[in-house]
Amino acid sequence: MTPPLPALLDQIHTEAQALYGKGRVADYIPALGEVPPRQFGMAVALVSGESHTVGDAQVPFSLQSITKLFTFVIALKLMGEGLWQRVGREPSGAAFNSIVQLETENGIPRNPFINAGALVITDILTSRYAHLDYALLGALRRLADEPNLHWNPRVAKSERDTAHRNMAMAYFMKSHGNFQNAPELVLDNYCRQCATEMNCQQLAQATLFLANGGRDLAMDGQPDELFLGADDTRRVNALLLTCGAYDAAGDFAYRIGLPVKTGVGGGIVAVVPGVGTVAVWSPELDAKGNSVLGAFALERLVALTGWGHTTL
Ligand code: GLN
Repeated sequence: MTPPLPALLDQIHTEAQALYGKGRVADYIPALGEVPPRQFGMAVALVSGESHTVGDAQVPFSLQSITKLFTFVIALKLMGEGLWQRVGREPSGAAFNSIVQLETENGIPRNPFINAGALVITDILTSRYAHLDYALLGALRRLADEPNLHWNPRVAKSERDTAHRNMAMAYFMKSHGNFQNAPELVLDNYCRQCATEMNCQQLAQATLFLANGGRDLAMDGQPDELFLGADDTRRVNALLLTCGAYDAAGDFAYRIGLPVKTGVGGGIVAVVPGVGTVAVWSPELDAKGNSVLGAFALERLVALTGWGHTTL
């Protein structure tokens, strides 16, 4: 018989700590390089309303690319299928910040989760919202049932001051007519978006709609609210499975087999459709920009629980 979740989380926490020192904290965004590396938190939120945490699950961290999941969902709700005129939905097989495919594919990024694709999504939302940061925070506050969510101005500035490659991609896409706004303005919004902070418990809660057929689980005894249609929810999960971990998406699918989104802040969120969500955070990254301890913890959790084994 599988031990109860709190015992499993304790076991995984202990095992994961053996991996400290095997990765490196991202420092291409200077402010991220200052985060103490030896931290690990994990939270599980279940569609039944139950939740469990272990380690540093209450410590806020920089969401970075995990925000691309939420901006994509907001853009999909706004634009529906029209979105696919601007961005593709194929795995890229290239680094998250790769520019090379933009040239061969006429300025259309491969998917919404690599940087180029996320910049297009932020461009779309910049045209729609006067204050994109508040639109994103508003959605996250609602989904996480947490009014106190913010973006970190120091991290945003640190990324903005060094965003030369992302800026190059934005200009390249503009030269192909796939960018509506001034790249400078979109980059301001993108860097604020990436600097959004949450802890594992909040992140697991905020993504629970993806495990719950698109319904945002109400915490106060009210009926669940539909945040995203069931078909779109299934499509988002499919894209997270195939594209959510950049050029390690195949490896993640093999090892973990769940829709995931990773970020260079060291966070990973995973969806177990019909069951719940798992958010894990540990800042040391592998060469592809994914959390070493985070990926290990998810791999252990699915092995120990059997989660996802019947959904694929
Ligand atoms: N803000 C980061 C960047 O654009 C996000 C990258 C990531 O988390 N993979 O480089």
